[in-house]
Amino acid sequence: MNPLAPAWLTEPDDANDLAPLVWPDSIKRTKKGELSVGGMKASKIVEAFGTPIMVLDEQHVRERAERTRRAFEAAAARHDGSARVYYAGKAFLTTEIARWMIQAGLNVDVCSRGELETALAAGVPADRIGFHGNNKSVSELERAIDVGLGTIVVDSPIEIERISAIAERLGTSQRVLVRVRSGVHADTHDFLATAHEDQKFGFSLEEAESAVARIRELPSVEFVGLHCHIGSQIFGVSGFRESASRVLELHERLLEGGPVPLMNLGGGFGIAYTRVDTPAEIEDLADGIVDAVANECAARGIEMPALAFEPGRSIIGSAGITLYEVGTTKPVTVETDDGSADRLYVAVDGGMSDNVRPALYGAQYSARIASRASDAAPALARVVGMHCESGDIVVDNEYLPGDIVPGDLVAVASTGAYSAAMASNYNHVPRPAVIAVRDGEARVILRGETINDLLARDTGITEGLDR
Ligand SMILES: *Cc1c(COP(=O)(O)O)cnc(C)c1O
Repeated sequence: MNPLAPAWLTEPDDANDLAPLVWPDSIKRTKKGELSVGGMKASKIVEAFGTPIMVLDEQHVRERAERTRRAFEAAAARHDGSARVYYAGKAFLTTEIARWMIQAGLNVDVCSRGELETALAAGVPADRIGFHGNNKSVSELERAIDVGLGTIVVDSPIEIERISAIAERLGTSQRVLVRVRSGVHADTHDFLATAHEDQKFGFSLEEAESAVARIRELPSVEFVGLHCHIGSQIFGVSGFRESASRVLELHERLLEGGPVPLMNLGGGFGIAYTRVDTPAEIEDLADGIVDAVANECAARGIEMPALAFEPGRSIIGSAGITLYEVGTTKPVTVETDDGSADRLYVAVDGGMSDNVRPALYGAQYSARIASRASDAAPALARVVGMHCESGDIVVDNEYLPGDIVPGDLVAVASTGAYSAAMASNYNHVPRPAVIAVRDGEARVILRGETINDLLARDTGITEGLDR
C-alpha cells in the first residue's frame, strides 16, 4: 500500500484486472493480454485511428437505453401509470447516438441550438424532443417552436412571455413544463434539502405557482406539468423521494386550476467511475423512485401524472473508454510523515482538452494498461496529460503495472459522458475522434479535428492550410 494513495484505493493483486461495472460490457483481455472492446483489439483501433481516441461500445449504449426505458415503463405500469425516458443529449450527442436513442424508444433532451439541430438532423421527430436551458435565446426559441418541439422546459418569467409572443406570431401553441427548484440537491449518497436553493435554474416552488397561473392565461402556451432535476451522479432514491414529495405538493395545488398531466423528475443516476462506486441497477432505481411518487399520490388522493425522466450519464458513461499512448513516465518522490514514497507520473497524449472533469470537478477515474498485460508489481500512478497546466490530470490515483513505458497504450474507463461533450481546444490541441465499435467493426461517428481545422479559424492565415 503506497501511503500517497487515497484511503479508498486499494492495491490490486493484479493491476491488469477490469473492475465490474466500471468498463464497457464488451471489454476483455485477449489471450495475449491486450484489451479489446466491441470485438476490436486496442492495437487495431489505434492503428486505424491513432491516439487519443474515444471508443464507444455501441451495444452497451443501446442496451442501457432500452433497459432504462423498460425499467421506468414497467415501474409506472405497476401503478397503472406511464413513464417516458428522454436521453439527456448534453452528456454526448451526435446524430448516430440520437438515432440509437430513437431506435431504443427514447426521446431526446437538448439544451442549445447545436444540440437541437443535431437531434433534428438525426431525424428525431420534433415532438420527441425536449428543450432545456436557463437562457434560451429568442432565435433558439423561434426555431424550437417553429419545428413543433414536444416540450420546452421554461425557466423564467421572461421566457414565458417570449414563448407566448413567438408562438402567437407563428400561429401555434407550445407545450411547456415549468422547472422548479425543489430545494433538494443530491450528490452521490447524500442529499441536501433547503427551503430555497441558491442557484440559477428554475422557479422556487412559490414562484412556480404564479408562473403556471400566468401560462394558463396565455392562449399560445399550454402548461403540461412541473419539472425538477436534483443533481448528477446520484446513487440512492432518497433525494428523488424528498424532491418528488415537495413537487407533488405543488402539483396537487395546481390541479385546482386545471389539468397537470405530466411530471418530469430529471436524470442524474450515478455510474461507477472506480471500483468503489456502487450504482444500483436501473430497475431498482426506477422502482424506488416511481413507487415513492405513486405512494405520495395515493396519500394525497390524486392520480399519478405521466412521468418522465432524463438520464444521460447512466446511459452512455460506462460505454466509453479513451485510449491514449504513453509518451513519458517519471517517478516523483514525495515526503510523507514517516519517510517518503514514490508516485509514478504517466504522461499521455491528451488530457484536459479531451476530458476536463478531473480538472474541473476533481473527478476520479480508472485506468488500465491496454496494449499488453504485465506481471510487474503495481505502482501508484497519476496519469497526466500534455497540457501546460499542473492540474491537467487524466486519472489522479490508480495502480498501474510498474513497468509501464513510453509506447504503451492506456485505457481510461467510463469516459462516454461529459468528456467529448466538454472537450476544448486548449493549447490548440485538436479534439479527438469518437468511434463506435460493435462485432469487431469500428465506425467514426465524430471525426477528429486536424491542425488544419484549428488554423482555418484564424483569419490571419490564408494560405498553407494543408497541415
Ligand atoms: C444534466 C441534466 C440531466 C442529465 O444528467 P445525468 O447526470 O447525465 O443523468 C438531466 N436533466 C437536466 C435538466 C440536466 O441538466
